[in-house]
Parts: sequence; structure tokens; C-alpha cells
Amino acid sequence: MSTPRETHGFQAEVRQLMQLMIHSLYSHREIFLRELISNASDANDKLRFLALSDPALYAGEAELAIWVEFDATAGTITIRDNGVGLNREEAITHLGTIAKSGTAEFFGRLSGDQQRDAQLIGQFGVGFYSAFIVADRVVVESRRAGQPAGAGIRWESRADGEFTIEATERVQRGTSVILHLKEDAREYADAWRLRSLVRRYSDHIAFPVRMAKEGATLEYEPVNQAQALWARPRSEVSDEEYRAFYRHISHDGADPLLWAHNRVEGKREYTSLLYLPAQAPFDLWQREAARGLKLYVRRVFIMDNAEQFLPLYLRFIKGVVDSSDLPLNVSRELLQRDEQVEAMRSALTRRALELLAKLASDDAAKYAALWKEFGRVLKEGLSEDPGNRERILPLLRYASTHNADDAESVSLADYVARMKPGQERIYYVIGENHSAARGSPHIEQLRGKGVEVLLLGDRVDEWVMGQLGEFSGKRFKDAARGELELGALADAADQERVDAALKESKGLLKRCKDALGERVREVRPSTRLADSPACLVRDETGLSESMRRVLEAHGQAPPAAAATLELNVAHPLVRYLDGLPKGEAFDELAQLLYDQARLNDSGQLDQPAVFTRRLTGLLVRLAGAQ
Ligand code: ADP
Repeated sequence: MSTPRETHGFQAEVRQLMQLMIHSLYSHREIFLRELISNASDANDKLRFLALSDPALYAGEAELAIWVEFDATAGTITIRDNGVGLNREEAITHLGTIAKSGTAEFFGRLSGDQQRDAQLIGQFGVGFYSAFIVADRVVVESRRAGQPAGAGIRWESRADGEFTIEATERVQRGTSVILHLKEDAREYADAWRLRSLVRRYSDHIAFPVRMAKEGATLEYEPVNQAQALWARPRSEVSDEEYRAFYRHISHDGADPLLWAHNRVEGKREYTSLLYLPAQAPFDLWQREAARGLKLYVRRVFIMDNAEQFLPLYLRFIKGVVDSSDLPLNVSRELLQRDEQVEAMRSALTRRALELLAKLASDDAAKYAALWKEFGRVLKEGLSEDPGNRERILPLLRYASTHNADDAESVSLADYVARMKPGQERIYYVIGENHSAARGSPHIEQLRGKGVEVLLLGDRVDEWVMGQLGEFSGKRFKDAARGELELGALADAADQERVDAALKESKGLLKRCKDALGERVREVRPSTRLADSPACLVRDETGLSESMRRVLEAHGQAPPAAAATLELNVAHPLVRYLDGLPKGEAFDELAQLLYDQARLNDSGQLDQPAVFTRRLTGLLVRLAGAQ
């Protein structure tokens, strides 16, 4: 049985990836070997998993391994495995397209700047196509486990945008990837070179990687340790080995920031190895992106992306969990409702949070880098996992009025340590971004008193912060809501000022309320303004205008609630207003103050043209031009 040779075009993204491989990854060419051995190891893992329920798939050959062979004269290197193999359809899809979600968007982000793109590609994971870094012709011969010898396939490409596929006879199960090296890559077809690369990059691979014995062509010996890395005692694994293993499981080109390797014994037995990545994967925010740990049961690979062992807000953590107790035939469905998995999940969650805390205390700079990449994800934990709130709170970092820059570097412990004597609240303010928050009129008095305010630049923070409760016995307080609750920070002079303002401005406040009508709930003298004439204040629970807009965009906005207008009665413009008689000029200016306050509040007005017309009218009048 033989089908004719068919020619197929690569998916556009694959073509782009191959071009990049060939031109941009020139300085790390040797990574092709680790990538292909990694794929061979995955293929062996998959067969071992399938054979759990169908041992006949082994067809008498249950010892799984990887072979690396070369021919210096012909200039070829072959990486062979006896794993699951590929059938025709699988070869066409797996070696012609990229299945990861978000691939097209990812490639849209490439800039054409080779150095930057090479880094991005590192995030994406280079994989099989790295063969084309060193080879100008790649042949893949394979037979799927369980298929007869006649069902072999031969795939070939010369990196010219196309590949061919045809049927062949193949006695061996599994896959051979044959690299026809480019002229300038022939140096890799060398025993010493290949052995040292296998040892350097693939020592952690759990299957033996075999190479021909020196001087003997048909006798092979393992070159690597061939032991599951996580099963070895911590003291015997070097940092370099941990890093290489991370690359194998994560497809991340950057080194991890920190890891934790633990064996749990007792009622439940399992080993976990968790890593904190240094850079976010391209699909961190994609709903359907793969996440989760690699699951093994007694060293046997069970599945990638076992999501059940960590909560969603820790989805950036990579690693392996190997259970001694779960059944080998465990399925995703079973994992979802297994009590034991539930217990492991809470222990691993705690372990991961401890690992984050350790990085934060050991290396502030590395933690800052992690926060920058994953802070937004981690924050989700405050609502997703209230049980661990006490562990999550110390991990948060904020921008603050204490610093001149907008970097998120202040921890709540830093804040509390700097609190003023008598200060009872942790103050924060939320804006469209950090600098908008910094400029918020609501914090003018606080700044005047030297009280630090945390600056939040993301509207979703409003919702998160509202649920926080307290840290270190201090309640959180949104400076733009309700009373400022200054407590002992308010001195007698402050109170006097407010009392006096209330008395003196009674008429003004009422006239303003009359002019603005239902748009405001109340007009009152402000305790928080120093330089600005007016601001809007909501009560503790009312939805902000921006948050309302977010909800509105999702078709679920509740009706708008009027806010309170606070006036800085000492402000010249407010005093000027007070001096105006009842009439159009008064109403216009009151309206103008209200619109300004709204603009500060939500960065937006319903009718900007009306506002600018009013403002122009006022300016013309004040300039005495009319
Ligand atoms: P990834 O390994 O990240 O999925 P690759 O580009 O390295 O991406 O490989 C693409 C797919 O090709 C793999 O997911 C796998 O299905 C298939 N593949 C690659 N190498 C082998 C192999 N040696 N044996 C079987 N299948 C393989």
C-alpha cells in the first residue's frame, strides 16, 4: 500500500517561525538538540501513558529510550525515539501548523527587529522547527504505536515553505528526525560535541539518551543520567540541572527566578517541583491557554496542564507533581472531584505562596520583576482565594506618594511601618493610571499632612480593594469615598475650619445644591481639598463612574447614583462664586465646578461641548472682554 507523495504548504505562522529560526537564533544554534530530545521524551511519555490501558502497544518493546546518531561524512544527525509516533494526519497537522491558541495574535506582535523577535520566540517555545536552525533539509520518518510496519510515513521539508508527505514501510515504532546539516553546521556531527550537548542540556531527561560507544557502531551506551529529576534528592541536583529541566517543561527561553522542590510523606505521598518564571508567556491572558502542572503518577507521565493542582491566580507557576497515591488511570474528570487532589491543591497553593514570599524577602529586585509580569494575575487571588488572603496581602506591591516614580514597589508592610502617629487607615486612591491617581484632588489634604497614599492605576482595583478589609489591624480607606476618617490625624484647627466653613457657607452650599439639583446628592465643605476648588465624593459602597462604564460595556450597569459635591470654601474661585448674586452667572459657574469635579472623577463628561462653551463664556467674562 503506498500513497503518492503529496506536497503541502506550511501554515503562514510556521513559515514565519522558520524564517526567524534560521535568521535570528543564530547565536544559540545548539538548542536544536535539546528541543528535539525534549520532543522525543514527550513522545515516549505519551506511549507509556497510552500503554497503561493498552499494553499491547509496546509490541514486546517496553523499554523506552532515545538515540542520537550521526554521520560525519554525510553531514547528518538523527534523533530517534521509540515512543508514540505520528501517523499521516498527525504529521501533517503537528509538523505543519502550530496548535497553540493565540498563535496568530502572537505573530502579529513580531516587530521585524531580529533581536527582539528572537526573545519573543523564546517565550513562545521553539520546538520542532528549531531543526531548521542547523539543517537545510529535515526528514521525519515515523510509525504510530499500534500500527503495522506498512503504515509508516516520511515527511520532508527544505524550509522553502512546503513539506512533502508519503507512505513508507517502517519496522521501528516511533520517530526518527534526520537533520541534513547546513555546510556551516557540520561541526555538530561529532561524537564529542553531541555528547557534551546531551549532558549539558538533556541530562534531566528521564529516558536514556543513547549514543554509539566509541569505536563501536552497533553498541550503544546512555549518555545522560536518565533519572526523573524530581525523584532525585534535592542535594544532588545542581542549579543548572534545575534550570535545564525548567526549560524542558516550560518552553520558556528565560531562566526561572526561583523554585521549590519538596517531597511530602505520610498520609499522602507526592513530590512537587514548582518554578517561578521570569517572564509571562504570550498567552497569559488568554482564557483557553494551557496552564497547570505536569502530572506524573509514580514517575509515569499522566498529563500536561493538570489545572486542578493550583488555583487560577497562580496559573503562571510551572512545575511537576508526582503522586504515589493517585491511580494510574486518573482522568481529568476524576481529578476534578477527588478529595485527595483537593488536599494536594491546598498544600501546593500554600507552597507556591511561600515560594513567592521567599523570593520577595530574599531578592527584592527579582520580586519586582515578577510582580511586573504577574502582579495583575496574583491580585486575582484576593477574590478567588479569600482563605489565603493573609498570605497574599504581603505579596502585593503598590505605587505610592512616598516615591517620586510610579513603580509598584511598596508593600503594605512598608506602608504600615511609615504610618504617622495616630494614623488608623491605609489610604489609597484609584485613577485611570498611576499618574492620574497621583494628581487626584481627593488626596490633597492627606499629602499636605504628609500621609502616604497608595496609588492604584487600574479600575478593577476598585473592586479588589473594596473587599480587602484590613492589614496588620489597619483598615483600608479609599480617599475618594465617604469621610476621610482622619482620627487623631485631624487637629483641632481642621475641625474649626470645617465648622466655620459650614456656618459661613451655609447659603452658598444650599444655592449650589439648588443650581445642580438631582445631579448631586449633597453639597458640603471639603476636608480633603487643598488646591482644587471642588471634588466629587461617593459613599463607601457606591459604584464609581468608571466602574459603571466597565459594567455598562458588559451590558450590566446598575443605575447611576448621585455623588456628593465637596467644595473647598477657601478657594478663590469658590469665594468668587459665593459673591455672585442668584442668577445665570452663578448657575453657570456652579455647573462648571461640578463638571470639573466629574472630569477628575471619571475622565469623561456626558456633554463635553457644553462644558467647553461654559468655560469659554466664563473666561471671556473674567477677561473683561465682554
Ligand atoms: P510542542 O512540543 O511545543 O507541542 P513542537 O513544535 O516541538 O511543539 O512539536 C509539535 C508537535 O509535533 C508536538 O506537539 C507533537 O505532537 C509532534 N511531535 C514532535 N516531535 C515528535 C516526536 N518525536 N514524536 C511524536 N510526535 C512528535
